[in-house]
Amino acid sequence: MNNANAWEFPWLQNLLESLQRSQNDGTLAHAYIISGARGLGKEQIAIAIAAFLTCEAPNPQGQGPCGECKGCRLNATGNHPDVLLLAPKEPGKALTVDLIRKLSDYVHVSSHAGGARVAVLSSAHKMNSSASNALLKTLEEPHESTYLFLVTDSPGLLSPTIRSRCQRITLPIPALEVSLEWMRKLCGGEFDEALATSCLKAAGGSPLLAMAMLTDESLPSRQALERAFVACLTGIATPESLLASLMLAEPITAIEQILSTTAHYAKLMLDTNQQADDGAIDTAVLGGLVSNATWAQFIAQISAVDADENTRRRALLGNRLVRLYDEIEKARRQIGSPTNPNTKLLLESLCWLTSRALK
Ligand SMILES: [Zn+2]
Repeated sequence: MNNANAWEFPWLQNLLESLQRSQNDGTLAHAYIISGARGLGKEQIAIAIAAFLTCEAPNPQGQGPCGECKGCRLNATGNHPDVLLLAPKEPGKALTVDLIRKLSDYVHVSSHAGGARVAVLSSAHKMNSSASNALLKTLEEPHESTYLFLVTDSPGLLSPTIRSRCQRITLPIPALEVSLEWMRKLCGGEFDEALATSCLKAAGGSPLLAMAMLTDESLPSRQALERAFVACLTGIATPESLLASLMLAEPITAIEQILSTTAHYAKLMLDTNQQADDGAIDTAVLGGLVSNATWAQFIAQISAVDADENTRRRALLGNRLVRLYDEIEKARRQIGSPTNPNTKLLLESLCWLTSRALK
């Protein structure tokens, strides 16, 4: 899926067309931060933009590169000399200053093909402070026809000065039907719509994550983690049993999952249109979690006869869930930061906080 062409993602087409029109009008900025939840195609859209920027005969209507010129042929093999893709040396590791120097040297050289020169920096929030300072220098001296795309799912971890020097592209979470239709096309004849819908809900609406779940069959383990989390939250299970479930998954994946479950129930309790950074709480509207029955039982137990008192109790729970959400989000940022924190300790403390959150 990493090699997929973003033009084939229906939820990105309008955005891509409008960016290509900006390129044709000469209004494209030199530096962008591409952010959004995991599994929406951030890397793929950056590569798709690089492809039309380095195409020698791009479609004037803004519908992608020509696919036939020398630039397009080089891009198809991933070997265009005017497209640089940079990422941490190993997944999860920091982006070092040497990598950023490589990027700075690269943007100072003029284009091989005489057109645009593009650099894409993946996991941009993984820059340590010296890397971040080096990048700032590059951003302060933009070169003509040079474009930089910083790809990140934690834009809040980038320094405010870097953020102020870049335009923002935030990828939307597509409507459920759009994602389902896309998954149906990919799966062909053997499409199980109910299973695909469950995967989408478990993935917080991210189609690429949902598709991965559908193919690697990780849905049951995600559902097990969700059950363990809600059991700990509602006092049915201990923090130790939640920790055991959390440790089975990759930490960042596990944390993102409990984050979206918390957002779901906070939204349900507060029933207002709360907006978290990058629409994290928006994913909650998808609903339909496997733990809904446990939650409904918990709510029934604490409900009062008086309607006003009930509203008050729900609001109180909602606010407590928002506080827990903030704590989980803090842990997500720590785990995602370049400082390599002690993951087990962080998870232990989260489990304890979860068990206390509604008391
Ligand atoms: Zn072309």
